[in-house]
Amino acid sequence: QEDLFKNVISHAKEYGYIFASSEIYDGLSAVYDYGQNGAELKNNIKEYWWRSMTQLHQNIVGLDAAILMHPTTWKASGHVDAFNDPLIDNKDSKKRYRADVLVEDHAEKLLQKAEKEIAKAKKRFGDDFDEEMYKETNPRVKRYLGERKEILERLAKSLTNEDLADVKALIEELEIADPETGSRNWTEVRQFNLMFGTKLGASAESATQLYLRPETAQGIFVNFLNVQKTGRMKIPFGIAQIGKAFRNEIVARQFIFRMREFEQMEMQFFVRPGEELEWYEKWKETRLKWHKSLGLGEENYRLHDHEKLAHYANAAADIEFDFPFGFKELEGIHSRTDFDLKAHEEFSGKKLRFYDPELKENYVPYVIETSIGLDRMFLSVLSATLKEEELEDGNTRTVLKLPAVLAPTKAAILPLVKKDGLPEMAQKIVDELKWDFKVQYDEKDAIGRRYRRQDAVGTPLCITVDHESLEDNSVTVRFRDSMEQKRVPITELESIIRKETDF
Ligand code: ATP
Repeated sequence: QEDLFKNVISHAKEYGYIFASSEIYDGLSAVYDYGQNGAELKNNIKEYWWRSMTQLHQNIVGLDAAILMHPTTWKASGHVDAFNDPLIDNKDSKKRYRADVLVEDHAEKLLQKAEKEIAKAKKRFGDDFDEEMYKETNPRVKRYLGERKEILERLAKSLTNEDLADVKALIEELEIADPETGSRNWTEVRQFNLMFGTKLGASAESATQLYLRPETAQGIFVNFLNVQKTGRMKIPFGIAQIGKAFRNEIVARQFIFRMREFEQMEMQFFVRPGEELEWYEKWKETRLKWHKSLGLGEENYRLHDHEKLAHYANAAADIEFDFPFGFKELEGIHSRTDFDLKAHEEFSGKKLRFYDPELKENYVPYVIETSIGLDRMFLSVLSATLKEEELEDGNTRTVLKLPAVLAPTKAAILPLVKKDGLPEMAQKIVDELKWDFKVQYDEKDAIGRRYRRQDAVGTPLCITVDHESLEDNSVTVRFRDSMEQKRVPITELESIIRKETDF
């Protein structure tokens, strides 16, 4: 698994998916740039999400709000006061860590230990194995799971109370050590606000403190009435948005899993008060199905109901993905109540209510949020599809089995040789197909090497033009996953590519 993660990172770099930001200056930590293929894949993920939200649902519309917002927004949302991480400083190593992450890591390790025992027992008992019963009765597994639960509950309590002494006590009691030095010499626990600040205005005295938005959601809430009125939307309805968010993450690690500048794809769904939990369940199910239908393997997803709730939520769950470093949050689904709209009413003095013609009453709607990290989804796609395959002839190939709908290039058009009019014919095919699909012309190197290169970037189809093509106007189509080759008339290419790569 660790190897897989290393391979994903180096593959992403080698094939133009992801580069460290400002790499020539040795990079900026936890900030990344998307290369020529990364930009395409990212756009395709966005489009895939955007279409499933705003095209397949008549009652969901889009929005593109600014990153910079009136600073009062962040007072109303609670981010100025409460968007804090408790930090631990280690005076020896001069390193800082997020306390909750350290404790959660510890809890995760206990879970892994329990899962290992369970897997062993499963092997031993075969078909007769009753997992639930085993969890209840095996003393070791019971202890691991029990300890884990207790740790998470205590962590939840200390974080909601913002009681830093509690977090510190927990760290000491669990004897959690500095992950790098192994030292247990923690010194101080402090709060640290996650928002990036910036200034608006020419001179230092007159400048206004602004923040780069730490979530895209607030742009939706402050526009709730604009969209509802101008779009004549009736509750229930949703507003979807894709955009950058910024968090001054202190434990920024795991490649693009936790970044300081990242992108979110969020949808806020406005419902009648009292109906929110029903909608919450519906969206949980809908979103999980959406992920599973992408084809990365259903076993790679699981739902995790939150034991600790944020101040604005009355129910919350994560859709977790099995990343190379284990199951981690990919998407959050939160029942945010009327917390945000009410707070914006209070701070702005403007009403944010909906007149419900059926109920004949005004109310502040309740909100269900589905929020997915675009970059995390990108990482899930790469790590689930990067494969080393043994071939029948004893060779191996590296192949990125991207869902075709997401692949940066849909088809590569390859003249078998660089002469005899084959390049011209291939170029003509490119010129016909390029209006409908992203296709790429490639004539460099032997055909086998070109196939390998396209496999490695994840191109689903290779179209080879050979001498026979000049005579019969047909070409060879090679399918990335099966490596099967088929002779087809050029006139059928469009429908073949469409069928393979459709939404
Ligand atoms: P985590 O617990 O991993 O920090 P979170 O619960 O703070 O995440 P939310 O505030 O619910 O995350 O944000 C919604 C989604 O945005 C997450 O599910 C995740 O996919 C993505 N996300 C959040 N923080 C980051 C980040 N620093 N880098 C990349 N994606 C992020």
